[in-house]
Parts: sequence; C-alpha cells; structure tokens
Amino acid sequence: MNLNAKAAARQDGRDYLVEARGISKYYGQTRVLNNISLGVCKSEVTCIIGPSGSGKSTLLRSLAFLEEYDGGDVLIEGELLGYIEKDGARARAPLSEINRVRRHVGMVFQQFNLWPHMTAAGNVAEALLRVKKMPRARARERAMHMLEKVGLADKADAYPARLSGGQQQRVAIARALAMEPHIMLFDEPTSALDPELVGEVLQVMKELAREGMTMVVVTHEMGFAAQVADRVVFLDKGEIAVSGPPDEIFRNPAQPRLRQFLQNYL
Ligand code: ADP
Ligand code: MG
Repeated sequence: MNLNAKAAARQDGRDYLVEARGISKYYGQTRVLNNISLGVCKSEVTCIIGPSGSGKSTLLRSLAFLEEYDGGDVLIEGELLGYIEKDGARARAPLSEINRVRRHVGMVFQQFNLWPHMTAAGNVAEALLRVKKMPRARARERAMHMLEKVGLADKADAYPARLSGGQQQRVAIARALAMEPHIMLFDEPTSALDPELVGEVLQVMKELAREGMTMVVVTHEMGFAAQVADRVVFLDKGEIAVSGPPDEIFRNPAQPRLRQFLQNYL
C-alpha cells in the first residue's frame, strides 16, 4: 500500500468511492478470495453474481471490513480501510479509525436484523440517537423522512413482527439511508423474501440507483442486474471470472462457467 492512497486511487483517472485492490482472504488453509480487484465510482451500481460459496458475501463484507482480508487493500473514498501504515509496516487499525473510514458505508443484509422491541421509526432512529447523538425530535423527523422514502410512512409505529418481510427489509434500507451513506452495500437483500415481496424491495433499490446512490449489490436477481447495473462481476471460486457491462454478461456470455451459471436463471 503506498502512502498516498488518494493519488493512487486516481491513477487511472477515476475516483473510486470504494475500491478493492488485489484482496485475498483465507479461512484456515482454504482460499476464499483470490486477488480481487474492483472499483466503483460515484453513482455507479456494481452487481456481484455467482454460485453459492463463490465468495460473494466474503467480498462484500471485506469492503466494509466486517471481514478481515489477508492481502491487498480496500480503499473507501481513497482511504485504506482496516489497516494503518506504521514505520513502513502495516498494522491493524484501531476500531475508531476503522469506523471513521467506513462511516459513509451503509449495509443491508439478507436478514433484516431489526430490533423486535422497537417500532419501524425506532429502528431507523436508533443509530441517529446513539451514534450521531442527534436530539430525539430530529432523529424522529429524519426517521419519518426515510420511511417515507421507502414507502412506509404509514408503518412508522408498527413493530417488525407486524410487518411483512418486504416491509422489514425496506425499514432496514431506511435505517441504512438515515446515516447518509455515500456507498450502499447490499448482500442478497431479497433472498429471504417470499417471491411476491421481492419487487417492492427491488423498486426501492432502483429508485436509489436512479437518484445516483453508489451501490454494490450481491444478487441473484438477474433482471435487476441487467436493468440497473453499470457493471456486473461474476465471481467463481473466489475469483473474478468475468466482469463487464450487463449487455456483455447477459446477452451472449462467452465464458463457459458464466454460461452454465446463467442457465439456472432461464
Ligand atoms: P457466497 O456468499 O458466494 O455464497 P461466502 O462468501 O459466504 O460465499 O463463502 C465463501 C466460502 O467461504 C465458502 O466456501 C464458505 O464455506 C467459506 N466460509 C464462509 N464463511 C466462513 C467462515 N466463517 N469460516 C470458514 N469458512 C467460511
Ligand atoms: Mg452469500
């Protein structure tokens, strides 16, 4: 990692909000990510597709340092995430520094993980109160605004148990958005949903993309990827097997593993 990460992030003339540079990851002896490089510019949507176990979640989690990577660099808005350079060597960054670098990264997971004892608005406001130390009235106001954005203003006072899976996931998205992220990472946000509830969540994500949110989305929704992604990355056995614009990936995939994978979605 060179010391002037910001300049390096611009070395090919592009400003990446999130960038992986040759990251590798092992679980014990097993290599689950092998030399992964990708960069996402402002307002770009990158979709990550690939078979189960190919490393999609590990990659996404590495981009937020929820997973420690073993080699390479992750840069958020030009800053190295997870490590600091000290006397020419690399050391694990303290948590406060990790949190500082990733403060503009929002995440949404397959499992919505809402607090069951808090209302929808309470769930959205929680981090504003605790992390941002926002006064209660302002946090509530922001929460209402975010719930409106995901079409759930009328559910503000409902508890998660009274919400459908699709509604719960939209609350989870509102919760992430309340923190004013510059980058949103989604890990199979619709995979836990009944089929008839998938559309309402994808709709919210499409709207976000349209508004210019920078997004990295692990998904099995090929229609969404084809329609929304600027770039699609096909991960296979921990490696980027193919990467390109959706047209290239979906129209006439040349690579055999990708062809085979996409057959399952016809
Ligand atoms: P995907 O999201 O594409 O299904 P994952 O990133 O979850 O894939 O997993 C990639 C590989 O790493 C898989 O072989 C999985 O079994 C393995 N793996 C994931 N998490 C762990 C863990 N905590 N310990 C050991 N192996 C893991
Ligand atoms: Mg996964």
